[in-house]
Amino acid sequence: MTSTSRPLLNRRLAEFGTTIFAEMSALALSTGSINLGQGFPDTDGPEEVREAAVRALRDGRGNQYPPGPGVPELRTAIAAHQERRYGLSYDPDTEVLVTAGATEAIAATLLALLEPGDEVIAFEPYYDSYAASIAMAGGTRVPVTLRPHEGSFRLDLDELRAAVTDRTRLLLVNTPHNPTGTVLTRAELAAIAELAVERDLLVVTDEVYEHLVFDDSEHLPLATFPGMRERTVTIGSAGKTFSFTGWKVGWVTSTPGLVTAVRSAKQFLTYVASGPFQYAVAEALALPDSYFSAFREDMLAKRDLLAAGLTEAGFEVFRPAGTYFITTDIRPLGESDGFAFCRALPERAGVVAIPNAVFYDHREAGAPFVRFAFCKRAQVLEEAVKRLKSLAG
Ligand code: PMP
Ligand code: GLN
Repeated sequence: MTSTSRPLLNRRLAEFGTTIFAEMSALALSTGSINLGQGFPDTDGPEEVREAAVRALRDGRGNQYPPGPGVPELRTAIAAHQERRYGLSYDPDTEVLVTAGATEAIAATLLALLEPGDEVIAFEPYYDSYAASIAMAGGTRVPVTLRPHEGSFRLDLDELRAAVTDRTRLLLVNTPHNPTGTVLTRAELAAIAELAVERDLLVVTDEVYEHLVFDDSEHLPLATFPGMRERTVTIGSAGKTFSFTGWKVGWVTSTPGLVTAVRSAKQFLTYVASGPFQYAVAEALALPDSYFSAFREDMLAKRDLLAAGLTEAGFEVFRPAGTYFITTDIRPLGESDGFAFCRALPERAGVVAIPNAVFYDHREAGAPFVRFAFCKRAQVLEEAVKRLKSLAG
């Protein structure tokens, strides 16, 4: 066998193909459809933050390699944010690491912490990079399925407990949860924390939607629960909170030992990234509370607009408590295959959405669910709703 007759992509990655986000955004472009698939806002974040990036570029801050752990200004701002919002105290020098978005933080964390064969429990449906990063690290993913229950997707704590084995190395948690919009409750988080302590598990928690929580729900970082600070790697990102998804500034907060481990992997992925943007994000994190509440209110109005429209168009809507995604059930429309539905939707209605099945190992469990992003201008959402209503007719 010659080197090119063997499949070029290795076995660990063969199952992943092209991400659904790239596929669906390309479909939106080629068909001229409204893109409610990939989660990115169609307006940029605060002008003063953009100006801060321009200033950094002009002043020559960050144009050459920034320090490996991230620029001190940003590490200090991340620590101050965790302290101010959650009372979590981290040493900017030893307990904070800046990454190329949350995506690199997830990959570096798993590459650093897993031995081949270690099991990772994650809540299914999961954000697509989790499965790929676990695979690259040689780990084995163990899905615990969130199931529809009274209008939202819930975790079955008994199922979670039963999924832990002697090979379980870590729990990979995501709250607020993409794609379901579930925000884990205090009781659920307390139970996860107790289990992690009892079974001596590491916990990696992806909290990139921490500022997008609606109604009576509250974002509670897992690291605030008893026994968790010392075993938890918390991941954040500026992309969602400040509407600059292209800047790719993310971070990790944890103990010195865990941060050092993650940095060991991270230094051979990008080494460093986003130099000038790091300075701008440092300023963004220090914005007054009014920025964060206005951002949340704005997204809440968009959620309500799209949720009402999808309901009218005949979808069953799972009203999200967090994130900027709405998961729907397409069965009331007489459909059952989300993949087929999403591939046909641009032609049928000029709208692009994401089939949740791609986020499942148990594809059949996710088959009838379809995700729509609402981080778009009101007139874009209104037009999308108008188009989707044609489906009912
Ligand atoms: N985690 C979740 C749950 C996400 O939805 C995303 C992207 N939208 C990421 C991580 C990646 O974030 P980043 O763009 O900062 O890499
Ligand atoms: N996190 C975004 C989403 O869920 C997409 C990010 C990406 O394209 N990798 O839509």
